[in-house]
Amino acid sequence: APMARLDRLLANLGYGSRREVNALVRAGGVVLDGVTLKDAGAKVPIVRELPARMTISGVAVDPPAPLTLIMHKPLGVVCSHREAGRSVYELLPTRWRARMPGLSTIGRLDKDTSGLLLITDDGDLLHRVISPRAHVAKRYLATLDRPLSGEEGTIFAAGDLMLDSEETPLAPAELRVISPTQAALTITEGRYHQVRRMFAAVGNHVNALHRDRIGGLELPADLAAGEWRVLDEAGEASIF
Ligand code: URA
Repeated sequence: APMARLDRLLANLGYGSRREVNALVRAGGVVLDGVTLKDAGAKVPIVRELPARMTISGVAVDPPAPLTLIMHKPLGVVCSHREAGRSVYELLPTRWRARMPGLSTIGRLDKDTSGLLLITDDGDLLHRVISPRAHVAKRYLATLDRPLSGEEGTIFAAGDLMLDSEETPLAPAELRVISPTQAALTITEGRYHQVRRMFAAVGNHVNALHRDRIGGLELPADLAAGEWRVLDEAGEASIF
Protein backbone atom coordinates (compact mmCIF):
# COMPACT_ATOMS: atom_id res chain seq x y z
CA ALA A 1 0.00 0.00 0.00
CA PRO A 2 1.15 3.60 -0.58
CA MET A 3 2.47 5.12 2.64
CA ALA A 4 2.39 8.69 3.93
CA ARG A 5 3.66 10.52 6.97
CA LEU A 6 1.00 10.62 9.67
CA ASP A 7 1.23 14.38 10.20
CA ARG A 8 0.91 15.02 6.49
CA LEU A 9 -2.07 12.66 6.17
CA LEU A 10 -3.92 14.28 9.06
CA ALA A 11 -3.19 17.83 7.90
CA ASN A 12 -4.43 16.92 4.41
CA LEU A 13 -7.61 15.50 5.89
CA GLY A 14 -8.30 18.80 7.64
CA TYR A 15 -7.56 17.79 11.22
CA GLY A 16 -5.44 20.91 11.68
CA SER A 17 -2.10 22.47 10.81
CA ARG A 18 1.04 20.34 10.99
CA ARG A 19 1.63 21.84 14.48
CA GLU A 20 -1.88 21.02 15.61
CA VAL A 21 -1.80 17.47 14.36
CA ASN A 22 1.63 16.98 15.93
CA ALA A 23 0.15 17.94 19.29
CA LEU A 24 -2.75 15.59 18.71
CA VAL A 25 -0.36 12.70 18.01
CA ARG A 26 1.86 13.50 21.01
CA ALA A 27 -1.20 13.56 23.24
CA GLY A 28 -1.82 9.95 22.22
CA GLY A 29 -4.98 10.60 20.26
CA VAL A 30 -4.12 8.54 17.19
CA VAL A 31 -4.49 4.74 17.18
CA LEU A 32 -3.66 2.46 14.23
CA ASP A 33 -4.54 -1.24 14.40
CA GLY A 34 -4.91 -0.95 18.16
CA VAL A 35 -1.51 0.68 18.67
CA THR A 36 -1.16 4.30 19.80
CA LEU A 37 1.08 6.22 17.39
CA LYS A 38 3.36 8.62 19.24
CA ASP A 39 5.50 9.74 16.31
CA ALA A 40 3.94 12.23 13.92
CA GLY A 41 6.55 11.23 11.36
CA ALA A 42 5.43 7.59 11.36
CA LYS A 43 4.57 6.15 7.97
CA VAL A 44 0.97 4.96 7.70
CA PRO A 45 -0.72 3.06 4.87
CA ILE A 46 -3.08 5.04 2.67
CA VAL A 47 -5.80 2.50 1.98
CA ARG A 48 -9.57 2.63 1.56
CA GLU A 49 -10.01 0.63 4.76
CA LEU A 50 -8.10 3.17 6.87
CA PRO A 51 -11.24 4.38 8.70
CA ALA A 52 -11.75 0.81 9.96
CA ARG A 53 -8.16 0.71 11.24
CA MET A 54 -7.39 4.17 12.59
CA THR A 55 -9.12 6.31 15.19
CA ILE A 56 -8.57 9.96 16.09
CA SER A 57 -9.67 10.72 19.65
CA GLY A 58 -11.62 7.46 19.55
CA VAL A 59 -13.48 8.21 16.31
CA ALA A 60 -12.81 6.54 12.92
CA VAL A 61 -10.47 8.65 10.80
CA ASP A 62 -11.97 10.26 7.69
CA PRO A 63 -11.48 8.29 4.46
CA PRO A 64 -8.25 9.26 2.68
CA ALA A 65 -7.96 10.37 -0.95
CA PRO A 66 -8.84 9.19 -3.52
CA LEU A 67 -12.37 9.51 -2.24
CA THR A 68 -15.63 9.43 -4.18
CA LEU A 69 -19.04 10.07 -2.67
CA ILE A 70 -22.49 9.27 -3.99
CA MET A 71 -25.06 11.84 -2.91
CA HIS A 72 -28.79 12.19 -3.31
CA LYS A 73 -28.77 15.90 -4.04
CA PRO A 74 -31.81 17.59 -2.56
CA LEU A 75 -33.66 20.44 -4.26
CA GLY A 76 -32.56 23.95 -3.35
CA VAL A 77 -28.82 23.49 -3.04
CA VAL A 78 -26.20 24.47 -5.61
CA CYS A 79 -23.23 22.46 -6.89
CA SER A 80 -20.73 25.31 -7.02
CA HIS A 81 -18.65 26.80 -4.22
CA ARG A 82 -18.97 30.20 -5.84
CA GLU A 83 -22.67 30.40 -6.62
CA ALA A 84 -24.86 32.09 -4.03
CA GLY A 85 -26.86 29.86 -1.73
CA ARG A 86 -26.37 26.71 0.24
CA SER A 87 -24.09 24.24 -1.56
CA VAL A 88 -23.85 20.46 -1.58
CA TYR A 89 -20.50 20.78 0.21
CA GLU A 90 -22.34 22.07 3.26
CA LEU A 91 -24.01 18.66 3.54
CA LEU A 92 -20.59 17.11 4.24
CA PRO A 93 -18.63 17.27 7.52
CA THR A 94 -17.19 20.75 8.09
CA ARG A 95 -13.63 19.44 8.37
CA TRP A 96 -13.85 18.13 4.81
CA ARG A 97 -13.74 21.66 3.42
CA ALA A 98 -10.05 21.71 4.39
CA ARG A 99 -9.22 18.43 2.62
CA MET A 100 -6.29 18.36 0.21
CA PRO A 101 -6.88 17.57 -2.57
CA GLY A 102 -10.29 19.22 -2.44
CA LEU A 103 -13.55 17.54 -3.37
CA SER A 104 -15.54 18.66 -6.38
CA THR A 105 -18.73 17.51 -8.03
CA ILE A 106 -18.54 15.40 -11.18
CA GLY A 107 -20.61 17.66 -13.38
CA ARG A 108 -23.41 19.70 -11.89
CA LEU A 109 -27.09 19.58 -11.23
CA ASP A 110 -29.17 22.77 -11.18
CA LYS A 111 -30.38 24.13 -7.88
CA ASP A 112 -33.87 22.95 -8.90
CA THR A 113 -32.77 19.44 -9.89
CA SER A 114 -32.51 16.54 -7.43
CA GLY A 115 -30.91 13.14 -7.63
CA LEU A 116 -27.68 11.27 -8.21
CA LEU A 117 -24.57 13.40 -7.78
CA LEU A 118 -20.98 12.20 -7.56
CA ILE A 119 -18.37 14.14 -5.60
CA THR A 120 -14.69 13.26 -5.84
CA ASP A 121 -11.09 14.32 -5.27
CA ASP A 122 -9.97 11.90 -7.98
CA GLY A 123 -9.16 13.98 -11.05
CA ASP A 124 -8.78 10.95 -13.31
CA LEU A 125 -12.21 9.65 -12.39
CA LEU A 126 -13.75 13.07 -12.86
CA HIS A 127 -12.37 13.37 -16.37
CA ARG A 128 -13.31 9.84 -17.30
CA VAL A 129 -16.94 10.54 -16.37
CA ILE A 130 -17.37 14.01 -17.90
CA SER A 131 -15.20 13.59 -20.99
CA PRO A 132 -17.50 13.96 -24.03
CA ARG A 133 -15.65 11.08 -25.64
CA ALA A 134 -16.55 8.73 -22.79
CA HIS A 135 -20.29 9.06 -23.63
CA VAL A 136 -21.32 8.17 -20.10
CA ALA A 137 -25.12 8.19 -20.17
CA LYS A 138 -27.08 10.18 -17.61
CA ARG A 139 -30.76 9.47 -17.06
CA TYR A 140 -33.21 12.15 -15.96
CA LEU A 141 -36.82 11.81 -14.90
CA ALA A 142 -38.73 14.87 -16.06
CA THR A 143 -42.16 15.97 -14.98
CA LEU A 144 -43.65 18.12 -17.70
CA ASP A 145 -46.06 21.01 -17.76
CA ARG A 146 -47.96 19.79 -20.83
CA PRO A 147 -48.76 16.31 -22.16
CA LEU A 148 -46.18 14.85 -24.52
CA SER A 149 -47.15 15.02 -28.19
CA GLY A 150 -45.64 11.66 -29.05
CA GLU A 151 -43.08 13.16 -31.44
CA GLU A 152 -40.43 13.97 -28.83
CA GLY A 153 -38.74 10.55 -28.81
CA THR A 154 -38.15 10.68 -32.55
CA ILE A 155 -36.90 14.26 -32.44
CA PHE A 156 -34.46 13.57 -29.57
CA ALA A 157 -33.21 10.32 -31.14
CA ALA A 158 -32.43 11.97 -34.47
CA GLY A 159 -29.27 13.63 -33.21
CA ASP A 160 -29.86 16.89 -35.02
CA LEU A 161 -31.68 19.01 -32.46
CA MET A 162 -30.25 22.52 -32.18
CA LEU A 163 -30.61 24.36 -28.90
CA ASP A 164 -30.93 28.15 -28.84
CA SER A 165 -27.59 29.96 -29.18
CA GLU A 166 -25.59 26.75 -29.76
CA GLU A 167 -23.53 25.92 -32.80
CA THR A 168 -23.52 22.14 -32.82
CA PRO A 169 -26.54 19.85 -32.76
CA LEU A 170 -27.18 17.59 -29.81
CA ALA A 171 -26.13 13.96 -29.92
CA PRO A 172 -28.97 11.43 -30.06
CA ALA A 173 -30.84 11.01 -26.79
CA GLU A 174 -33.29 8.35 -25.72
CA LEU A 175 -36.76 9.13 -24.41
CA ARG A 176 -38.93 6.67 -22.54
CA VAL A 177 -42.47 7.84 -21.91
CA ILE A 178 -43.75 7.00 -18.45
CA SER A 179 -47.06 8.88 -18.49
CA PRO A 180 -48.51 11.76 -20.54
CA THR A 181 -46.51 14.24 -18.43
CA GLN A 182 -43.57 12.11 -17.27
CA ALA A 183 -40.60 10.79 -19.19
CA ALA A 184 -37.10 9.43 -18.65
CA LEU A 185 -34.53 11.08 -20.88
CA THR A 186 -31.05 9.60 -21.28
CA ILE A 187 -28.36 11.92 -22.60
CA THR A 188 -24.63 11.48 -23.11
CA GLU A 189 -23.68 15.15 -23.13
CA GLY A 190 -23.78 17.70 -20.35
CA ARG A 191 -24.66 21.02 -21.88
CA TYR A 192 -25.93 23.87 -19.76
CA HIS A 193 -29.50 23.14 -18.57
CA GLN A 194 -29.62 20.55 -21.31
CA VAL A 195 -32.71 18.59 -20.33
CA ARG A 196 -34.82 21.67 -19.59
CA ARG A 197 -33.73 23.23 -22.88
CA MET A 198 -34.47 20.06 -24.85
CA PHE A 199 -38.06 20.02 -23.64
CA ALA A 200 -38.32 23.77 -24.24
CA ALA A 201 -37.18 23.11 -27.83
CA VAL A 202 -40.20 20.84 -28.35
CA GLY A 203 -42.61 23.36 -26.83
CA ASN A 204 -42.86 21.92 -23.35
CA HIS A 205 -41.63 22.93 -19.92
CA VAL A 206 -39.96 20.87 -17.21
CA ASN A 207 -41.64 21.34 -13.84
CA ALA A 208 -39.46 18.87 -11.94
CA LEU A 209 -36.21 17.14 -12.79
CA HIS A 210 -34.44 14.27 -11.05
CA ARG A 211 -31.36 12.31 -12.14
CA ASP A 212 -31.46 8.65 -11.21
CA ARG A 213 -28.58 7.14 -13.14
CA ILE A 214 -25.01 7.83 -14.31
CA GLY A 215 -23.69 5.11 -16.63
CA GLY A 216 -24.59 1.86 -14.90
CA LEU A 217 -24.74 3.44 -11.45
CA GLU A 218 -28.24 3.98 -10.07
CA LEU A 219 -29.27 6.20 -7.21
CA PRO A 220 -29.80 3.72 -4.35
CA ALA A 221 -33.41 3.57 -3.16
CA ASP A 222 -32.25 3.76 0.47
CA LEU A 223 -30.35 7.02 -0.01
CA ALA A 224 -32.76 9.81 0.95
CA ALA A 225 -32.53 13.37 -0.35
CA GLY A 226 -29.63 15.11 1.40
CA GLU A 227 -27.90 11.85 2.26
CA TRP A 228 -24.58 10.62 0.90
CA ARG A 229 -22.14 7.78 1.37
CA VAL A 230 -18.69 6.72 0.26
CA LEU A 231 -18.81 5.02 -3.16
CA ASP A 232 -16.85 1.77 -3.10
CA GLU A 233 -14.73 0.42 -5.93
CA ALA A 234 -17.52 -1.76 -7.29
CA GLY A 235 -19.82 1.26 -7.40
CA GLU A 236 -17.17 3.26 -9.21
CA ALA A 237 -16.59 0.49 -11.73
CA SER A 238 -20.34 0.23 -12.40
CA ILE A 239 -20.34 3.73 -13.90
CA PHE A 240 -18.39 2.58 -16.95
N1 URA B 1 -30.26 19.20 -17.45
C1 URA B 1 -30.83 20.24 -16.82
O1 URA B 1 -31.57 20.98 -17.41
N2 URA B 1 -30.54 20.44 -15.52
C2 URA B 1 -29.73 19.63 -14.82
O2 URA B 1 -29.51 19.85 -13.62
C3 URA B 1 -29.16 18.56 -15.49
C4 URA B 1 -29.42 18.36 -16.81
